[in-house]
Amino acid sequence: MRRGARYLDRVSETATETTLRWDLTLIAADAEEVKARLAKLVVKSTSLASRYEGQVADLDAEGLLTLLEELDLIKDELRTLKNYGELRLAQQADDPEARDLAIAVERQKTAVENAIRFFELEWALVPAAQVEALCATPALGPYCHWLRAEQRFAPYRLSAAEERVFALRTATALGAWQELHQEQTASLAAPFDSGAGVEEQSLDQLLSYATAPDRELRRCAYEAVYDALEPLAPVLAASYNAVVQDRLSEDRLRGHGDDPMFRTHLENQLPPAVVEAMLAAIEGQQELARRWFRAKGQALGYPLEFHDVYAPLGAASPPVPWASAQAIVLENFERFAPALKASAAGFFHGRIDVEPRLQKTGGAFCAPMSQAVKPFALVNYNERLEDVVTLAHELGHGTQFDLTAQVQPPLVAEAGLALSEVPSTFAEMIVFESVLAREEDPQVRLNLLAGSVEQAFAAIFRQAAMTSFEAKAYAALADGKALRPERLNELWLAEQRGYFGDAVALPDYSAAGWSYIPHFIWTRFYTYAYSFAHLVALALYDLYREDPSFATRYLDFLARGGSASPVEQLKDLGVDVYDPNVWTRSFAELERRITAAVTAAESA
Ligand SMILES: [Zn+2]
Repeated sequence: MRRGARYLDRVSETATETTLRWDLTLIAADAEEVKARLAKLVVKSTSLASRYEGQVADLDAEGLLTLLEELDLIKDELRTLKNYGELRLAQQADDPEARDLAIAVERQKTAVENAIRFFELEWALVPAAQVEALCATPALGPYCHWLRAEQRFAPYRLSAAEERVFALRTATALGAWQELHQEQTASLAAPFDSGAGVEEQSLDQLLSYATAPDRELRRCAYEAVYDALEPLAPVLAASYNAVVQDRLSEDRLRGHGDDPMFRTHLENQLPPAVVEAMLAAIEGQQELARRWFRAKGQALGYPLEFHDVYAPLGAASPPVPWASAQAIVLENFERFAPALKASAAGFFHGRIDVEPRLQKTGGAFCAPMSQAVKPFALVNYNERLEDVVTLAHELGHGTQFDLTAQVQPPLVAEAGLALSEVPSTFAEMIVFESVLAREEDPQVRLNLLAGSVEQAFAAIFRQAAMTSFEAKAYAALADGKALRPERLNELWLAEQRGYFGDAVALPDYSAAGWSYIPHFIWTRFYTYAYSFAHLVALALYDLYREDPSFATRYLDFLARGGSASPVEQLKDLGVDVYDPNVWTRSFAELERRITAAVTAAESA
């Protein structure tokens, strides 16, 4: 981190236009302004509700457009102010003004959302023929897909009174189990000696040793994690059992049918058969991952065990100064399409927070703003080549947010979970390929290639195995078998064995891997969207390699947001998800990468 600061200083001397922290005055002068704007927004949304509540079904096209435009302004402003509050906290967690603001934002946000909820409830009840008649009006064109999609939950809605009861009891029923699970895993800590003496370490800290070069350290850290999880297993399993039971009951009430994934597919706007075919294709390709793990074992000199899966190979690159990271990303974005570079370059003028420091949030993210204010990104730049790739990832998100906001109305801006990781993963690939092509040191090349394929496996195979685990857990409970720790352990281990095969030895304790995954508790079947997006990005990269004119189509895609379904957007890009062989291209691209990694491992 200290070394980072030195380079960062040097950059600010040479590249005077570049700032390394956010200029949040681009959004608002200060927290007081945000509070004042929030108060105005509450008035505005209440006024909107007083004029339109109960009227939605009676609006003609012109009236509906006026309402949508007002909703656009409210949604745009709400997102901006909410994200301003989050950026303040991300920038400095112990900033007392930011903490107060967070409370104010939460309160006002709920007030605004409650005021405008009438639209979604009333729109769902507008008959389909009337929706189609309205959508025939050209002025409503940009909203049409969104308006139709907003109706997809209508057949599964209960009576107003039932919905009210559902909403009321969620906090104390489902929500209470979720909180219990979160509390248990968030407070999990164990005394651990990573070489600097014994100290209390959190779950995240302990899991971070998975990439340590020292094998014994990796093994001890994993054992510490699972030792600490063991006494919690009955509570974590009871939480999961309750959450799954709650969802199964809700499915029955709403008429979702027997497939517990139905609701997720509906939310993601993906046809069930498409997801099922993808999951089957992934399962059929698990040998690809095993091939790599065997090669990795050869390179390390021992057959892999559970704690070796993320062991580093090769050597890290020499430090990459921040100025070079910017140059690498922008150069490669420009080579792909000048418009992509133009959009990304804007981040370096007060819209990216770069330096790692105390009280700043970890990891990396990108936050969309509004039509008037461009998105903001955060990274923790540590001068490693993988940090350059992370920068590309976040700017991949950022360029999509930016290009979408320039074209789509705010209500239509969100692309949805199935597509949201496509632009980021694709941007990573553009930059990664060029970084790799330039790297001459075989040890650094090996390190890069290994990291890249293992990241792809984590997105594709690991997330798909999680989906399969969830499906089996739902089926077990639906069949009257309670989700006790032993049963969940068994299901988890079976999925992990399917993924790793004989390439990685799994100790018995690793069977409790299900117990700390938050997605299972918070959003069912969330994880397959990662697999989907990664496979799509691989296919797109292969298409780009074949046909450079692909870049034009891709820029159009980045600007579409939620204006068309994922299936339609992908079809226009050249990926027909209904084609039974659609993922062949993705796996061929992945296999090319694995072969390069295996070759690097054999010759390093
Ligand atoms: Zn991302």
